[in-house]
Amino acid sequence: MQLKKAARVILVGAPGVGKGTQSERLLRRFPQLQSISTGDLLRKNVKNRTPLGAPPVAVDTDASYADRAIPGIMAENTMKTGGLVADDLMLRLISSELRNRGWLFGQGRPNVMTLSSEATSTEMPSSRDRGPPMDDGGSLYAQPWSFDDHHHHHRRRRPQASDDPSASFILDGYPRTAAQATTLDAIVPINLAVSVKTPFSVILERIAGRWVHEPSGRVYNTSFNAPRVPGRDDVTGEPLVQRPDDSEDVYRARFARFQETSEPLLEHYAKKGVLLEVDGLSSDEISPKLYGEFEKRFVR
Ligand code: AMP
Repeated sequence: MQLKKAARVILVGAPGVGKGTQSERLLRRFPQLQSISTGDLLRKNVKNRTPLGAPPVAVDTDASYADRAIPGIMAENTMKTGGLVADDLMLRLISSELRNRGWLFGQGRPNVMTLSSEATSTEMPSSRDRGPPMDDGGSLYAQPWSFDDHHHHHRRRRPQASDDPSASFILDGYPRTAAQATTLDAIVPINLAVSVKTPFSVILERIAGRWVHEPSGRVYNTSFNAPRVPGRDDVTGEPLVQRPDDSEDVYRARFARFQETSEPLLEHYAKKGVLLEVDGLSSDEISPKLYGEFEKRFVR
């Protein structure tokens, strides 16, 4: 089905609620949509052992911002313990991905906050292991895209999100906190935030059966979305694995963290008038509700 308006969508839901499944289905139904999963991007960076720190870059060479490596090694421990990866790393990850896909134009750099900035007030205890600030100069840019440039005699254009229906996307896993949402708003205005809801006990049961194909991010579940050949990816035939962060203890920590942070996040989108709540016990119950809303908002 053809979209007539650019859909800039985020899916919010506890880990294991089936956000991945819903994005996959939406992508199939609306071919213009593409998805970005920050969890997958992070796992890819961890797997590829991307460098711990970015090389120092002069403040005015923003063009190279998107090309710098994402520090996967820094994220690894945080992910293993179910914590949230530091906001500045996440911002770097997501803005470089949006640029690479051509959904974000214009010069300028995201508002990178340091440990000494207001970022500390929203910081989670487990992000203490975040290491040194990843900012170029250790400075805080209060006005992300309107600062005076000391090296050029023009002011930079603020990054601009494409309005073409082909620049339609679903973000899975980002933003996770109100602080991340505020940052993202300055880059791309989200026009639909879907809150996907399923009871905790139902999710916990599912987690135990979850297997993933790491290279592609395809997710299977032994009880309702089993691979054709047990333990093998349907497309490539490669082996499936269980994620270390799918153990029950880690899951409980992730769920608690989600509860803590999602409330202000959803509030953020409710205030903007773009929040939609969809609930169900299974993905099959949730999908048709989502399709209907997409058609109503982006097809007509
Ligand atoms: P997911 O596959 O979305 O559950 O993400 C797996 C892990 O990646 C999470 O437990 C976090 O450690 C990290 N992560 C993914 N997205 C974010 C985000 N927006 N902010 C902070 N950490 C994130």
